[in-house]
Amino acid sequence: MNPVVILEVHLDTGTARLRRLPEARAALGGSGLAATLFSQYARPTEAWDHPDQPIIFAIGPLTGYFPLMSKTVCAFVSPRHGGYAESHAGGRSALALRFAGLDALVLVGRAPRPSVVHVGAHHVSVQDAGYLWGMDALSCAKLIRRQISGSGHRSIWRIGVAGERRSPMACINVDTFRHFGRLGCGAALGAKNIKAVAVTGEEHQTLPTGKGYAALYADIFRDLTDTEMMHKYHNLGTPENLEPLDALQALPWRNLQATSKPEAIGSMSGQHFADTALLRNAACAGCPVGCVHIGFVREKFLPQDNRYLYRQVSYDYEPIFALGTMLDLRAPTEVLALLDDVEKAGLDAMSAGVALAWATEAMERGIITEAHTGLRLAFGATHVYREAITRMAEARQEFWAHLAQGADAAAQVYGGADFACVLGQEMAGYATGETFFVSQALGLRHSHLDTGAYSYDQANPPQDTAAAVRFLVGDEAERVLLTSMVACLFARKVYSRERLAQCLTAIGMGDLASDLAATARILQARRWQQRLAFGFNPTAIPIPRRFTEVVTWRGPVDAHYLAELQKAYAQAIKALAAEVPA
Ligand code: SF4
Repeated sequence: MNPVVILEVHLDTGTARLRRLPEARAALGGSGLAATLFSQYARPTEAWDHPDQPIIFAIGPLTGYFPLMSKTVCAFVSPRHGGYAESHAGGRSALALRFAGLDALVLVGRAPRPSVVHVGAHHVSVQDAGYLWGMDALSCAKLIRRQISGSGHRSIWRIGVAGERRSPMACINVDTFRHFGRLGCGAALGAKNIKAVAVTGEEHQTLPTGKGYAALYADIFRDLTDTEMMHKYHNLGTPENLEPLDALQALPWRNLQATSKPEAIGSMSGQHFADTALLRNAACAGCPVGCVHIGFVREKFLPQDNRYLYRQVSYDYEPIFALGTMLDLRAPTEVLALLDDVEKAGLDAMSAGVALAWATEAMERGIITEAHTGLRLAFGATHVYREAITRMAEARQEFWAHLAQGADAAAQVYGGADFACVLGQEMAGYATGETFFVSQALGLRHSHLDTGAYSYDQANPPQDTAAAVRFLVGDEAERVLLTSMVACLFARKVYSRERLAQCLTAIGMGDLASDLAATARILQARRWQQRLAFGFNPTAIPIPRRFTEVVTWRGPVDAHYLAELQKAYAQAIKALAAEVPA
């Protein structure tokens, strides 16, 4: 079996070394490989921004062989919690690494000056790029595209000003429209003085011969394109969820002060976005689904004349919730304008929106004033939020520097922790109930994608901590398998465990396919070991009072059940980590 190929780049010296690790194959790739490499490189006793802390980008064994094996897993030490973190992104990132002949790219050290890392199948360089420092993420990509040839085979990952300022909300913008979004990986790159990473995939990949592989590929392709399984993602996309969640009283509005606004949802629905703002669909490389919905913002650039420019901006359910309903906006064009601003600043849209929602309520309550912010924040005030995004990204003034550290961090300074909608990091857009709140608060990535808890709540199960924990642990294991294969999680119905085993067998890795359930459990445990090694204590994660004030279609959230579930899930996490030797 081919070994895993890892390129280790030492940013301080500009040198690199290739490693081939046969034993790393057992980790599959993606999440499993990232956690395995993290255990080798990371320093649990050092701070998140210590130069020795690694940033790891890993793809999976099926990348390039099957559709939607399109993600790259970025593992790093998070500035938000100082421990193991993962963020996943698509675009061309995974295929570029595959065609550069790499399974993983590991960055260690700190470049002495702002730099760009360029990696290809036959070259590595760390180039001075002081002229890019301070530049917004869109302009930066434009310049790099001009300098590095290979359109279509090249993937460009870069940070905006938020990453340079090391905000825990800073993301890494990937190609056009994709992101390593959460937990501050943009800050981790900024702390290494790296403005951008460009990967050029200029090699080719030999596909298996024979009918078996071709027939399996055709089956999968058919499921992805000719069945109902993926139709939602292509049609309205994830914004389709806005209306049903509002109807369930599970859509956060106005900093989660409300969970439904029947009078307003019509102007923020997926259909309304499509009717008024949708330009086209786009897709990650190698994906026939095309779930990426692209809208536009239009700006007058000559005030005295009718001269406009427009930019294309992608939208999804989560950014619409965070920069739309959480801020009580009422028009797609306004949400897209804010999305364009966070894109340029290199801020994670979800964290930025939720932090601004906290700041707005804090101002309404008089906890902060205009003297702190320099701005009159008010729900629905798009033009004020546009200025606020710039100030937050630049950490301009004391207040914005605090808020750039997170809504909970700002609340520690000014008060208002009860209504900071933070569950490990700023919340995702599901006020579905206790299981989701516990899942995000304790989940390894503090992500709505760690488990399907939002669906579990919507099935309205009886209160049963043991059953809920069984679901969380079991569902996470299935997802770890998928993210270790770097499958897009939207394709989870297509890529069942059995089918993943068939895929591995079809490319000659049948020995990895023999007991994927056991493999998933081992990889799940390994990730938790990394999280716990840096001092993570799941029982100590606060779930602010605002979450216990939520009323959904099932009635008020039960604070007692929430606390019991948190306790039980925390125990399960510790037990999971102890299942395999460290
Ligand atoms: S479904 Fe969407 S996110 Fe998933 S690979 Fe395709 S375009 Fe990318």
